[in-house]
Amino acid sequence: MAFLNKIGKKIGNVAGSAADKAKDLAEITKLNSAISSEEKQIQQNYLEIGKLIFEHDKDNPNSPAAELCRKILASQQKIEELRQKITEIKEDKEDEEQAVPIEVGAPVVPDAEPQQTADTNNAAENLCKNCGTENPENSKFCLNCGSPMVVRE
Ligand SMILES: [Zn+2]
Repeated sequence: MAFLNKIGKKIGNVAGSAADKAKDLAEITKLNSAISSEEKQIQQNYLEIGKLIFEHDKDNPNSPAAELCRKILASQQKIEELRQKITEIKEDKEDEEQAVPIEVGAPVVPDAEPQQTADTNNAAENLCKNCGTENPENSKFCLNCGSPMVVRE
């Protein structure tokens, strides 16, 4: 309170020196910072109280916090669904990546042209990098999986 009185006097005192004003401003800034700190503490404790009430009342439809609990439960469910979607996307990607070795033994497209004898030496060059299927020389795409082939210049 003494401080507040001091501020009141300073505000009323037009002759107050600039140095005093700067000192007061610094003091006020410090005090406001302390207030903010306490307010953060209150928010944190409100949060903790909220969590306790939620854990205690989430299954109680007669709780005064029932509506808020229901909203949190709905959000948690939504988060689960969103996480599930992310998992599915990741699994799809992994499936595609794992498909590479699985398809190695897959039958070649039946009507694929048999390799010409002359090409046999270069057979490795015509193997699909993706699925390992042998493709006719200079194929742009794999006959089996459609992956782009490395075309030799
Ligand atoms: Zn392929």
